[in-house]
Amino acid sequence: MKRTTRDITKICVRPDDELLAAFSAIGRDVLGMALVLADDGTLIGVVTDGDIRRKVIERKTLDLKVRDVMNASPTTMKATSKDDELIRKRSHKIKHIPLLDEAGKPVDIFTERFIPVAEPSLGDEEMMNVFECVASGWISSGGQFVRDFEELFAKYCGSKFAISTSNGTTALHLALAALGLTSGDEAIVPALTFIATANAVTYTGARAVLADVSRETWNIDPAEIERKITRRTKAIIPVHLYGLPADMDRVMEIARRNSLFVVEDAAEAHGASVSGRKVGSIGDAACFSFYGNKIITTGEGGMVTTDNEELARKMRILRDHGMNPERRYFHDVVGFNYRMTNIQAALGVAQLRKIDSLIAKKQRILKRYESNLSGVAGISFMPRGKSKESVCWLVTILVDAPYRLSRDQLAEKLREGEVDSRPVFLPVSEMPPYASDEKFPNADFVSARGLTLPTSPNLSDAEVERICAIIRTST
Ligand SMILES: *Cc1c(COP(=O)(O)O)cnc(C)c1O
Repeated sequence: MKRTTRDITKICVRPDDELLAAFSAIGRDVLGMALVLADDGTLIGVVTDGDIRRKVIERKTLDLKVRDVMNASPTTMKATSKDDELIRKRSHKIKHIPLLDEAGKPVDIFTERFIPVAEPSLGDEEMMNVFECVASGWISSGGQFVRDFEELFAKYCGSKFAISTSNGTTALHLALAALGLTSGDEAIVPALTFIATANAVTYTGARAVLADVSRETWNIDPAEIERKITRRTKAIIPVHLYGLPADMDRVMEIARRNSLFVVEDAAEAHGASVSGRKVGSIGDAACFSFYGNKIITTGEGGMVTTDNEELARKMRILRDHGMNPERRYFHDVVGFNYRMTNIQAALGVAQLRKIDSLIAKKQRILKRYESNLSGVAGISFMPRGKSKESVCWLVTILVDAPYRLSRDQLAEKLREGEVDSRPVFLPVSEMPPYASDEKFPNADFVSARGLTLPTSPNLSDAEVERICAIIRTST
């Protein structure tokens, strides 16, 4: 029984092979180990770099065969063993356990799992809801789950209306289009964000004007917004980066004083609040994403929330090809097809029920990282806000002197240890469509040093320890 897609044939050697053959086999997989097979294909030993090094030094010669250097009594388990038996067997010393069939031939290797930065947390309720869509035939954008998801999501955010969309980017475009942004207009977006924030402005024909972020929040700096306002400015799009709300009190005050719309990009911050108000209920509109790595997911999916009834009505029409609600197949305006399917919403309804526990898990993971890495010089955490209001979508650290490695070197060490990580977004100004000579020193600073660590709600305490051990000990 194979558990992984690992190809073990490429790391197999024979006892009479030369050391060079063992070295090449070891180099063909990240495990750092080769399997030694007898003529009948049964496992008679394993060999690592360390085994070879020790034997060469002991015998003072390189003229050795694999049989001379191999560990002839490695820990192995039956391929039919249960997961928890394997997990118990594994330890600091025994990282990789060859799994053998009845005849003693290796079929796979049990090892530490590759830890992703993010992964969805799906269960029976998601399965049952999707099953219901398929069984009922309601798989397109009509259907009860779509209506329920919109109603429940609006309630969750404390906003009056919620309009579901096909993804977070279409949610942003829909809101900006409904607010009337068009060519000649400008919208101010942070220089440090995912590209979709700026692209949504570009789709309307308006220009995305970049404003630097603040080092204290990594979010758009209100003073920079003020500097970027012109006669053409129509909207401000603050992004709640990695789950930390932007300074909405000041953003709203600036917008009111200058008669500008505010569209929150809340794609990374479902459930976060500022001054007692949930994101999604503060700006004229707010946009969410339900991509597979976001706080809750519908696979692909998005939502716009608003308290403005007229805006909600416009968005519903534009989402549906601009079709007149009173006259089927009559189109007053050029609209889009940005509808969410009932299958997506079926996932969303189930996910929304567990959102608070998913956020609590992420915050618990952050605490474990903080306590495990406190005192590691040069490693600091993304700010969490004055009253710790971040929902901590992704735990993100700054890697800086006097830490011994650069951010990219640390990412490489993590990868060698089967741990995924992700550099912070490049500033939008680095992308050819938005390139300019203007400098965004704070966005550059954070982007060059920021590293996102695994924050999956499925992460175990032991896995967080494993990740932190790599960060603490890498040199
Ligand atoms: C994910 C994300 C989006 C886009 O959402 P999609 O559902 O992937 O289209 C927009 N803005 C930010 C800040 C995001 O993180």
